[in-house]
Amino acid sequence: MLPEVAQLLADKKDKKLHLYFTGGIRCEKASSYLLKQGFKEVYQLDGGIVQYAHDIKKENLPSKFIGKNFVFDNRLGEKVTNHIIGKCHQCGHKADSHTNCANDACHILFIQCDNCKTTYNGCCSEDCKDFAQLDIQTQKELRKDVTKTVSSSKLSSKIKPKLYQLFNYWK
Ligand SMILES: [Zn+2]
Ligand SMILES: [Zn+2]
Repeated sequence: MLPEVAQLLADKKDKKLHLYFTGGIRCEKASSYLLKQGFKEVYQLDGGIVQYAHDIKKENLPSKFIGKNFVFDNRLGEKVTNHIIGKCHQCGHKADSHTNCANDACHILFIQCDNCKTTYNGCCSEDCKDFAQLDIQTQKELRKDVTKTVSSSKLSSKIKPKLYQLFNYWK
């Protein structure tokens, strides 16, 4: 992922680069990597978006971060503002709720709207929905043959937005 970022920004090594992450630990790693790659000015947001969200609330400042900040605990997200800038990965409607596919053999993390949550029983696809409905014993047997249950590479390329798409999104 980091090498891809460095590649995408290869012609911007003289520009100021500002990194922000959820918390801030990965920021350290990322910035030292980018400095090594020849980027001149790399800045970090102290404490990440989590700290930023707390600070602006305390100071009563308008937020420059809109929407929801993904966090790695059970909440899977912390609203910073009420904007919904995400899209359901299944139907494309506005949504910002992360969910793990209810099929334990898949468990992919993706954004799902309430409608699709109902339609797919909390799963990422028809395949996973069908699989999750089987009884546990059958699931276990099928899971021995991983390729039969979920071709996760096919799924993840469908569901995880490619990096360049994210960049276009932010423009
Ligand atoms: Zn949907
Ligand atoms: Zn799934």
